[in-house]
Amino acid sequence: MFVGYQFNKEGYSNLLSTFAENGYRFETFDISNPAPKTCFIRHDIDFDLDAAVTIAKLEAAQGISASYFILTSAPFYNIFEQNSVAALRKLASLGHKIGLHYDVTQTHESDMDKAILKEAGWLSNASGQKCEMMSFHRPLKELLRGPDEICGLISTYGKKWMVDAAYMSDSTGAWRFGMPTEQEAFINGGPIQLLTHPIWWHSEEEVAPEIRLREFLEMQYARTISGIKGNSTVAIDGIEG
Ligand SMILES: [Zn+2]
Repeated sequence: MFVGYQFNKEGYSNLLSTFAENGYRFETFDISNPAPKTCFIRHDIDFDLDAAVTIAKLEAAQGISASYFILTSAPFYNIFEQNSVAALRKLASLGHKIGLHYDVTQTHESDMDKAILKEAGWLSNASGQKCEMMSFHRPLKELLRGPDEICGLISTYGKKWMVDAAYMSDSTGAWRFGMPTEQEAFINGGPIQLLTHPIWWHSEEEVAPEIRLREFLEMQYARTISGIKGNSTVAIDGIEG
């Protein structure tokens, strides 16, 4: 039974299978250009590297390479922390590409080029794979359908990837413009950039986005307590140490 509508691991796997069954090849931004029956999977990792690894394993098991864009200025993870480095290296070892997810609101426009190059360098160091591509976190309108390259990095919001390919996104944990496999581009076999966020897909059960974020919050709380215990001997009132 096709259950591609479900936002869980099985639903995601089925979605990819439906693409493959319809003759689509999965490509990465650095190797191929938009062409009929090509799908470029992009993941923006705003929240959780562990969820990214879960989805990366699932894709690798289906023989698929995807592109993972890492938020170097993330409030929820630190790319140089031991577990994060291990997660990034796992993504690379599974055959995926690692790009920069750049938060444009973090810098003044005049400093943007410098900041992008600096953060791409950090990411290359942490992941052990040269960072050659980027996506914008909360992009400014003028950056959409703009240049295909920024500071020598492939820009996935460039015209090539937003106009020459159809763009489909699961932002907010829903397909705002309908299921990808029901879109005209898919039916016609056109090139597709498929943006998904592993946070919405990484569990066995389908969970509503607001519950998903509640679960994430609880996990972050536990991680923070463990971090405090590992880095300080000061006891916190009401928390066992
Ligand atoms: Zn983002």
